[in-house]
Amino acid sequence: MPATPAWPPASLPRLFVAGPLSQGATVELDGAPANYFANVLRLRDGDRVKLFDDCTGEWLARIAESGKRRVALTVGEHLRPRESVPDLWLLFAPIKRGRIDWLVEKATELGVARLVPVLTRRTIVDRVNLDRLRAHAIEAAEQCGRTALPELAAPAPLESVLADWPPGRPLYFADESGGEPLAATARPGPAAILVGPEGGFADDERAAIRSLAQARPVSLGPRILRADTAALAAVSLWMAAAGDWTER
Ligand code: SAM
Repeated sequence: MPATPAWPPASLPRLFVAGPLSQGATVELDGAPANYFANVLRLRDGDRVKLFDDCTGEWLARIAESGKRRVALTVGEHLRPRESVPDLWLLFAPIKRGRIDWLVEKATELGVARLVPVLTRRTIVDRVNLDRLRAHAIEAAEQCGRTALPELAAPAPLESVLADWPPGRPLYFADESGGEPLAATARPGPAAILVGPEGGFADDERAAIRSLAQARPVSLGPRILRADTAALAAVSLWMAAAGDWTER
């Protein structure tokens, strides 16, 4: 007996739209999303898609009108609520354009809840385009099936981040000069991971981080990883040891 195909099919196109969505509501698309549905995917009246809004969750929707520049959708069945991702923050020194986009995309796929660009002495990039990074986070969420977008904080100097550090949140500090193996020391959220710039932390910065009561210096092995590699390795280790990768 052939298995009954899942409904709705996981392959349905997914799109983030500003919410809140509700059953029976009409969603009007223009610009890039309309072009994507009408001209790239060639969706026609009656075709189904999935919408999510980062607040009410994910919905099934039907194309009501598909024009070259405008697409109207009718919201139907509520498929699932907004997920609660593990309470993990990723603090990273901004790196060059292509790599920071990639970092945000991958951190979104891996399940990070909040992304915080941290300005350190050796940070070479001083301007962070949050709108562009948000667009990358949205695209990654559309691809990986997330219903909760990661929060993207404004860049902040390391000093103020440490000065305002929340008491109950351990800070796993990726330190190439040595620390505990992250997989062994990771504990479920709230938690945060801090990764330095390509040039590393200055000695006084390292001392200031290590003097924070919540700081947990961690090692990511004997080799010097590039900042984006280190960030994703640390997030993956934490997710596998203490995040939602432990669930079947
Ligand atoms: N300045 C360092 C050097 O040249 O020796 C390298 C900095 S590394 C490219 C960028 C950041 O990745 C570091 O600040 C650290 O947070 C993290 N990192 C890289 N390799 C690591 C390791 N083996 N253990 C822990 N953290 C590491």
